[in-house]
Amino acid sequence: MRYAIFDSDTASDDAIALLTSAKFFRLIAVTIVAGNVDFDQQVRNAIFTLDYFGYDEIPVYQGARRPIMGKWEYAKEVHGENGMGEIQEVNVKRSASIGFAPDVILEMAERYSGELEIFAVSPLTNIALAYLKDQRLPKKIKKLWIMGGAFSRGNASPIAEYNFWVDPEAASLVLNAGFDITIVPWETCELGATVDDSFWNEISSLKTKASEFFVKVNSKMRNYSKRKGQKGSVQTDTLTVAVAYNPNLILESIRGKVEVETCSMSRGAMLVDYYGLEGKEPNATVVSRIDGQAFREFLLDVLS
Ligand code: CA
Repeated sequence: MRYAIFDSDTASDDAIALLTSAKFFRLIAVTIVAGNVDFDQQVRNAIFTLDYFGYDEIPVYQGARRPIMGKWEYAKEVHGENGMGEIQEVNVKRSASIGFAPDVILEMAERYSGELEIFAVSPLTNIALAYLKDQRLPKKIKKLWIMGGAFSRGNASPIAEYNFWVDPEAASLVLNAGFDITIVPWETCELGATVDDSFWNEISSLKTKASEFFVKVNSKMRNYSKRKGQKGSVQTDTLTVAVAYNPNLILESIRGKVEVETCSMSRGAMLVDYYGLEGKEPNATVVSRIDGQAFREFLLDVLS
């Protein structure tokens, strides 16, 4: 059994990734961080998703309501006002559990020391705050799976991916903290985990509870993506969970020193020292190519 925490700004793809991680991992906590849509809405979205699929024993904790240094910028234009696509009524019967997410991360890291993995598929503020409070955290965490970073074309600025762009200071702290990190960056997701029309229709035709949920929850992001000239919604967070569950999805990766730009126009850009030019110790593995067909089969299996 693999123990994991899912750190999330729950909207659209986060919800599917949450469902996926609950299915394949022993999720001991979901921690919410400022990101995609209004904070309290994200909390409700996470609880709604868990409870809808019978995971109502998994606690949800509230974390940072803003980035460390920068201004919080939402992504409602991508995910819609409530982040749940066609699901207008996000009614929940329970509230968030008592405890501040970064503290919960530290507590769970102690309790499951050496065994705990974290899915950091959102701005890295909660992880950074936990680390700032206790620098022994990285040694207790088995693996930190990060969805974030862009190095050639961003989805939030010309060169930055949203999670890194919203809180690049947090990303920088986390990257340099000493965690065992694998990063699934934006470009890899776009190339390997875009749900194009044929994939979308295949999911729709499954007619299961999960497939219907997928279609509803991703509808607004799909429309937004198409308006931007993409083939469909990019399942970034679910790909990150998929890669953790099945490393065979990774066809290519780069091990190197990875940093984040924190100033001016390129704020949030991910810098990968591909050729080791600076002679610095590698701090992360960046997944550069995945098996798109295998991901497609994986997702269809999750939703069947
Ligand atoms: Ca996310």
